[in-house]
Amino acid sequence: MHYYSTNHQAPMASLEKAVIKGLAEDRGLYMPETIKQLPQEFFDNIQDMTFQEMSFRVAEAFFGEDVDTASLKRIVYDTLSFDTPVVAVTDSIYSLELFHGPTLAFKDVGARFMARLLQYFIQRGQGGQGETVNVLVATSGDTGSAVANGFLGVDGIHVYVLYPKGKVSPIQECQFTTLGRNITAIEVDGVFDDCQALVKNAFMDDELNRHMRLTSANSINVARFLPQAFYYFNAYAQLKRMGKADQMVICVPSGNFGNICAALFGHAMGLPVKRFIAANNANDIFYNYLQTGRYEPKPSKQTLANAMDVGDPSNFARILDLYGGSHERITNLIFGATYTDEQIADTMRQCFAETGYILDPHGACGYQALKEGLRPGEVGVFGETAHPAKFKDTVERIIQHDVAIPDRLAAFMRGTKQSVPMPNDFAAFKSFLMNR
Ligand SMILES: *Cc1c(COP(=O)(O)O)cnc(C)c1O
Repeated sequence: MHYYSTNHQAPMASLEKAVIKGLAEDRGLYMPETIKQLPQEFFDNIQDMTFQEMSFRVAEAFFGEDVDTASLKRIVYDTLSFDTPVVAVTDSIYSLELFHGPTLAFKDVGARFMARLLQYFIQRGQGGQGETVNVLVATSGDTGSAVANGFLGVDGIHVYVLYPKGKVSPIQECQFTTLGRNITAIEVDGVFDDCQALVKNAFMDDELNRHMRLTSANSINVARFLPQAFYYFNAYAQLKRMGKADQMVICVPSGNFGNICAALFGHAMGLPVKRFIAANNANDIFYNYLQTGRYEPKPSKQTLANAMDVGDPSNFARILDLYGGSHERITNLIFGATYTDEQIADTMRQCFAETGYILDPHGACGYQALKEGLRPGEVGVFGETAHPAKFKDTVERIIQHDVAIPDRLAAFMRGTKQSVPMPNDFAAFKSFLMNR
């Protein structure tokens, strides 16, 4: 499969190049040249397949030309050692719990898949030995933990997680500072945007790139975002088992729009979804685009659903490209919603009082969008993107009820924190990397 850039000014790339480089030379995002349809037989039998079986079929359609069957199967089966169950919240609204991975974030699937695919290419390219690939990732919390845990112990890859000092929650910090081995946490004296700028500067620095191989692991990378399509096939299969899949509406709480983009790729492969809803917090750039046809990035606003605080969603370019830039095609399929912190809190309180289900602030946007937007006969599934214990203090304060911390999360908190202090200064960061 060839991958082109959404900016159309860079040469076509192989999957290997797209995964190792992340971004195209013209700063565009890579898109597969074709999206293969899955046959009717697949959808007729999907309810009888395991999550791993159906995901392997989806992965084959995307990656089957570039990765041999046995290796791809191993990558998919290793990645999906956990399930994403669909749980009824009301008669017509279901929570797709995406937080059953090792760090309790939906980003675990993409991170694990990318780590294994990258390792496959490194080993194939170099007969099993060669120069280490260095993954740089800036994080405000969840991306760092998912990527660090996804890549932990993977030979040939070293991960540097840059995070803003004092600005990630203690639970999140433990999830990437206690691992050791091939994971180095770098505590930057600055804010998230400073971390992001250090990473961007590193990718553009010729001397540094001659010294070491660098790649990125956020949702601009095709290997990070595409595997998230697996979730939506799994949701469909589960609803089909319940006889509820005929008018399925998928609602995705969105920030950088990688997750919903993967769901849209699933739809393009034939997954029967009636329509989509992108749920936003107060960062309403995509919502405004749907209303007006104009895409106007803004500085991000801080909200309760902080993993969605994005003012210029990177995967918007992919969505636009997928529908030939047509606002009409996009608005026929994708609907929008936007919620203030006050509305998010009200939703969490009300949902807990009425149903007993504990939403995290991100999932709350998804649930509310379905509650307001679902039409008669439709069944809605929203992505519950994080375990509520990840935002324990906020959730407990809002719903006035204890949230238990799962064992897996508590285990991270018993580890010893190790991080490299770093001033907010590219020269210092570069010199640190040059000396590695
Ligand atoms: C990353 C994240 C999101 C946003 O996902 P995108 O793919 O960037 O749209 C939503 N909720 C949580 C909890 C996240 O960690």
